[in-house]
Amino acid sequence: MEKILIKSSESIANHCSLRTGGIAKELFVPEDLDDLSSFLKHNTSPILILGLGSNILVRDSGFNGVVVKLNNLKHININNSIVKIGAGATLAKLSRLCEANKLYGAEFLSAIPGSVGGALAMNAGAFGSEFWDFVVNVTTVDKLGNIFQRNKSEFEIAYRSVSSNNNDEFFIEAELEFKQKKPTHNIKQLLEKRNKLQPIGLPSCGSVFKNPKNNFAAKLIEDSNLKGFCIGGACISNKHANFIINKDNASATDVENLIKHIQQTVKSNFCIDLETEVKII
Ligand SMILES: Cc1cc2nc3c(=O)[nH]c(=O)nc-3n(C[C@H](O)[C@H](O)[C@H](O)COP(=O)(O)OP(=O)(O)OC[C@H]3O[C@@H](n4cnc5c(N)ncnc54)[C@H](O)[C@@H]3O)c2cc1C
Repeated sequence: MEKILIKSSESIANHCSLRTGGIAKELFVPEDLDDLSSFLKHNTSPILILGLGSNILVRDSGFNGVVVKLNNLKHININNSIVKIGAGATLAKLSRLCEANKLYGAEFLSAIPGSVGGALAMNAGAFGSEFWDFVVNVTTVDKLGNIFQRNKSEFEIAYRSVSSNNNDEFFIEAELEFKQKKPTHNIKQLLEKRNKLQPIGLPSCGSVFKNPKNNFAAKLIEDSNLKGFCIGGACISNKHANFIINKDNASATDVENLIKHIQQTVKSNFCIDLETEVKII
């Protein structure tokens, strides 16, 4: 288990699924909420919160502040249909625990390689379900270490987007409710489908672009004949055109240049602006 840890000059590539990115001035992994709160009370540096780093690209110039990883905040408490879960717990674990406790609806989470905190921030979704469909309320912490309970109604929730009047707070816990009487999906089948359609196992950040209204980013990229196209070590997957693979020691600049190339090509072919889903820091 990764206990409390402070490291300086840490490569972000070690902490994100694209396996590239610059250096963070510091990395902090609190052991628990008390650690996190007392750190925040004294901290004056910019903060980047990371879950599993499966949706993030940090530029080669790095991050001149503290990357805070919440993977030790992974407590889970199940009471009838209510699950209280720490932001650092993985979605795979949540999905497995729900299945074991006959709580249904969370099957789709088995296909998303993120943390609860990342899923809250992104409104992660797959196979027709989204994370916030199940949220009752959340616990957040602000940059001074103050803790708040926030109701779902305080957030504006949309496709891969969550915002509120308190955007400077980050998530430390979610209270979820699973009311369904039957599962929506069979997890084994979901994982088989995902493995068939996506380049699982290769370094990527999942879908790079959001789907535009009434369209699919992957289709627009494929119809632009860009499958397999590379810049430096970054390539568009032959399996799924909305995935960029770090094929050969890609720099973050390679990935970002490829993102811009895709956007320009799709714009000139179809007059459609592709908006990134991956968070570029
Ligand atoms: C192979 C693959 C498949 C994927 N498939 C899907 C999919 O089907 N559906 C989908 O939605 N996504 C998918 N993704 C993307 C990604 O897994 C999700 O966006 C996931 O929710 C990100 O979680 P994370 O913990 O890795 O977040 P990170 O990548 O660590 O962070 C993402 C963003 O959330 C912020 N954040 C993280 N934790 C917190 C917190 N506690 N409080 C506030 N902000 C926070 C970060 O600062 C960053 O801006 C896929 C990625 C990969 C690599």
